Amino acid sequence: MNHMDITVLAPFDSNHDYTKSVFGAVDCLNQCQRQFRFRARRWRTEESDTELMRAEAARYAHALRTELRLPPDKFFLAVVASRLEGNWFSFVDHQARCGFITIAGCSLFSQFPIESFLGVELIQNLQEHLLEWADYSYAHLRPRGCLNDLCEFKRDISLKIQSGYVCSECQRAWVADRVPTRW
Ligand SMILES: [Zn+2]
Repeated sequence: MNHMDITVLAPFDSNHDYTKSVFGAVDCLNQCQRQFRFRARRWRTEESDTELMRAEAARYAHALRTELRLPPDKFFLAVVASRLEGNWFSFVDHQARCGFITIAGCSLFSQFPIESFLGVELIQNLQEHLLEWADYSYAHLRPRGCLNDLCEFKRDISLKIQSGYVCSECQRAWVADRVPTRW
């Protein structure tokens, strides 16, 4: 079956190792469908208190591609321990074909295992990439338990982790914007 490979970088440094959580999330996603093959890869990084700025994301993605010899044209996802600009859970740089997901403070806003948070964010970022969705026009300001809840109040993410749901409005948007079925 035709499937899309997505590399997911799983960070570890001298003080922390998040690879078990990332590999756990990836295993769950791979077991429940066959269209996407997530491939977790250990990635040695340096601990940093500096938040990752959107303006820096493309340069950083390019440096990672070079360092880890990732294919130049393939979308990949990097789980990072540092915070992201604007306190986002994640963002995609469409030009660089890369998404960043932070686990900073994860245990403070969700009582669920970190794997479940990562699972939701991996899917959400893949969706952003496939739809080339750059303007957040689908995001729901008021949480409804959908993948695309904005979750300005970060604890609201627990609702979509529990629901595992994509609302009918978002499903219609997927069809209208023609999510590709071949890659
Ligand atoms: Zn929705």
